[in-house]
Amino acid sequence: MQFSDIQGQEKAIHILQCAIQNRHIAHAYLFAGPEGVGKKQTALALAQYLNCAAPDLNTFTSCGNCPSCIQSVSGSQPDILMLEPDGASIKIEQIRTLLSKVSLRSYENAYKVIIINDAHLMTEQAANCLLKTLEEPTDNTVFILITAQVQNLPVTILSRCQQISFHLLSPSVIQDILQKLHPERQSQIGLVTALAKGSVSTAENLLANEEIAGARQEFYDLLMKLHQMRPAQIIGWCEQWDKNKKMVKALLELGQLWYHDALMVNTSGQMTLLVNQDYLAPLKSQKIAPQQLLQILQYFQTGMAQLENNASPRLIMEIVLLKTQAACTV
Ligand SMILES: [Zn+2]
Repeated sequence: MQFSDIQGQEKAIHILQCAIQNRHIAHAYLFAGPEGVGKKQTALALAQYLNCAAPDLNTFTSCGNCPSCIQSVSGSQPDILMLEPDGASIKIEQIRTLLSKVSLRSYENAYKVIIINDAHLMTEQAANCLLKTLEEPTDNTVFILITAQVQNLPVTILSRCQQISFHLLSPSVIQDILQKLHPERQSQIGLVTALAKGSVSTAENLLANEEIAGARQEFYDLLMKLHQMRPAQIIGWCEQWDKNKKMVKALLELGQLWYHDALMVNTSGQMTLLVNQDYLAPLKSQKIAPQQLLQILQYFQTGMAQLENNASPRLIMEIVLLKTQAACTV
């Protein structure tokens, strides 16, 4: 992993590169920020760079060819230790085993880099055990704690770490990453980017989630014929989403994207900007006036807000669709 492989986290990477340049690598970092934005990749890039035998000091690039780089890429570098939760937590035994490896002298005076993923899942005992080591740092040892829930880490741990913040990614960065990773899913990338809200891992989950893909097709089929449906049919369709908050949320988001696309077709005609690229023909054939489309988008937004306030998912879906139908048939 190279720093140049990570997109959209220039500020975090700049801080680390300055530290490398000034030979002021901290003994403990806390990489904090949302899921799926590049924290782990950045930790791995730093670990590989610090242990590379021939790094390029101007571009902060590891050579990629030395034994350490080859082992780093394959995940077998003995001086780079990665700890993940065991089930729902990181337990004291895991930390003890980890620390026993840290006390071994590192090979060829390299850096020992210990990456603790989801560090907020450490049990209290595990955190206390780690704290003792953080309080007495050894040379050439770097701890990198990674978390999406910084508020759930003990203050004692926080005070021992230099915090580096990671941010949500812009849609263009997500789109770029997905196009490189999944060129064969081109037609879905716009949609998934819009739903991902700045996180590559959310986008990847959406691409992998067949349930959402199936529900999307069913939902869009329904929206296309909504104006012909009887209210009883709409209510009947909504029954399946009783208490299914997760899917209703996904469907309300999809509905907003659908009607937003319809609005774009109606007003700008710029087809390349549409999220639902695989539904161009039906979107073009939608005959709903812009004023009505704006009203419908408002219904979906209200539905989302009510869902957050824990109203019944099925009921929200019914109301949104019945109001949408009324707006369609004006
Ligand atoms: Zn190297």
